[in-house]
This record gives sequence, structure tokens and C-alpha cells, in this order.
Amino acid sequence: MFEKFFPDLIVNSIQDIDLEDLKERGIKGLVLDIDNTLVAQFTKDASVDVVEWIEKVKAAGLLPCILSNASEKRVIDFNSSLSIPAIHRAYKPSPRSFLRAAEILGIESNRVAAVGDQLFTDIYGGNRTNMFTILVRPIDKKEILFVKLKRHVERFVLAKHSKLKLNKHSNIKRAKWKEKSAVKYSASKK
Ligand SMILES: [Mg+2]
Repeated sequence: MFEKFFPDLIVNSIQDIDLEDLKERGIKGLVLDIDNTLVAQFTKDASVDVVEWIEKVKAAGLLPCILSNASEKRVIDFNSSLSIPAIHRAYKPSPRSFLRAAEILGIESNRVAAVGDQLFTDIYGGNRTNMFTILVRPIDKKEILFVKLKRHVERFVLAKHSKLKLNKHSNIKRAKWKEKSAVKYSASKK
């Protein structure tokens, strides 16, 4: 079932996310990946662009939370100029970390948007907890071998996505699975 890995939205960069549209969809918070989503992989600090964008997110009334598989140090350093809630070593696509982020924000997971550059971590994890998932095109093309290999598979899934995204049956199947999956993981958390 490829639908598990389909994003709800694909954008070229975080700046292209229409915050008003998210609010109209009932979204109240954002769960954000760092590497290759907010900044290039080896950029230590949040850039001025990112700081300004986070301010815009907050001004729009949306609550941001960092959710990263990176180390504690990487996340703390990056977050020093942002000072927003942050989770490091999230083990994405573990649903637990996505639910934890929603809990920190105090928002039901189906009212949260998960934003990231990888289908099998950011998008799959967000889908499993019934978040609205937004795939951002990776900032940097230079990636480690493992990620490069995953990109090949991602391209295959994205080709399926462009074929099926307007298919009603596929969308209903995906929405049902997302809902069921979130119920399952929320229940197992308790
Ligand atoms: Mg990433």
C-alpha cells in the first residue's frame, strides 16, 4: 500500500507553505524536521530566513515544534535562536514521537501538520498518527549514501503518488488507514 507514504501536500520550500490554507483546514500546529527541511544538513544554526518564518508561523497563530532524529546537541544548538519546543532522537517514523510532539503542543494529532523532506520518516510517521503531511523538497542535494538510496525508492513512490493523487478510491483508502492507525497508536500509548 503506497498510500501510507503519500504526503497530503508537496512544496518546494517551507516558505511555500500556505499558512492561511492550513488554518482553514483546521490545522493548529506544525511538527518540523530540521535537516534538509528547515536548513541544509550540515548547517548548525537556524538561518535568518528560518527565524523569520517561525515568527510568521507564530504570528499566524500556529504552534511549532521541532521533531528531529538528530542528536540532542544538534537540536539544542539549532533551536537556540528559535526557542520553540523540540524533540531530539525522535526515531521517526516512530508514531510515539509524533504523538509526543502533538501532546507537547496540546493539540490533537489530526490538527497538526508534519513537515519534512523524507517520505519514509517524516511523512510516514505523520500519516501513521493522522497528521496532515507536507513534503518539502530537500534543500541540499548532497546527502549520505543511505539517504541517496532511499531517494530512489522515494521517486518510485512519488511517481505512484502523482498517478493516484486524484483517485477517489485511493484517497478514501488512505484517509481510512490514517484514522485507524492513529487510533491504534494513541490507544497503545496509554
Ligand atoms: Mg530531513
